[in-house]
Amino acid sequence: MKYKKIFTKITNELATFKDNGNVANYIPELSTINPNKFGIHLTTINDKHFNFGDANEKFSIQSISKVLSLAMAYNLEGEELWKRVDVEPSGTPFNSLIQLETDMGIPRNPLINAGALVISDILVSHFKNPKEEFIAFVRKISGISTIDYCSRIVESEKSTGYRNTALINLMKSFGNIKNDIDIVMDFYFNLCSIEMTCKELSQTFLFLATYGISPYTEERVLSKSKSKRINAIMQLCGFYDEAGEFSFKVGLPGKSGVGGGIVAIYPNKYCIAVWSPRLNKKGNSSKGIQFLELFTTETQTSIF
Ligand code: GLN
Repeated sequence: MKYKKIFTKITNELATFKDNGNVANYIPELSTINPNKFGIHLTTINDKHFNFGDANEKFSIQSISKVLSLAMAYNLEGEELWKRVDVEPSGTPFNSLIQLETDMGIPRNPLINAGALVISDILVSHFKNPKEEFIAFVRKISGISTIDYCSRIVESEKSTGYRNTALINLMKSFGNIKNDIDIVMDFYFNLCSIEMTCKELSQTFLFLATYGISPYTEERVLSKSKSKRINAIMQLCGFYDEAGEFSFKVGLPGKSGVGGGIVAIYPNKYCIAVWSPRLNKKGNSSKGIQFLELFTTETQTSIF
């Protein structure tokens, strides 16, 4: 497949696309990003690489890391995990409090903020040094030893993390947070602060295109069943209240972050990462979705 040519063709088509999105500004550090950045990187399961634009520039992956913390916690807890977090699409914004009250502190899924906070609590319970363990896991599965947290983003997010503080307190009141709130929040904000390039992102998530095997270490990261299930959760929950729309337009399991990144997986073939910081009203990269819609149609690589 001539991916590079297709990237150029679609990007030319998108030149007339009017992007009315705005960069995230509720985290002050994220508002400083040049909104016109645009990068694409596709890695095949045979480690072939195709890129376009700002594919080698680091950005904040934000909620995309929720898939990686989920993978780690699922390995540790097995099916017990689902007693504390559900696997249903929320249909509500990523930081919504509404369902938590009626659902007695059990988040609808692990990819909204409430769910990722419970997953963070689980990892804090398991490890003496959860931040070190987590970043070591990410470096191992990606084969990239330089991937790291960004303390600037952590501090920035802590200074305005009112909604996350509300979510974690509500869940604590229902008994679904076991550890000290400040420790769990610190871990969660660090997860969100990880920086990667599109290339690094597509390499890191490639194990979900290979039914759980890291192509870089050839080690099994997840069982075949767990890998399949995490893709299913991404398909149904990876874009919050826009998950249906993403399935409808793109047709791949994927995950977005408010840094403007999107990663999507075509099982047994490739992992693609796109970065464009302007977000639509649902908090997802608007040009990123537009690009992926045209890309999976042109290449006939939707799972549908
Ligand atoms: N760190 C962000 C938050 O907690 C992550 C949100 C996102 O990327 N959707 O609000």
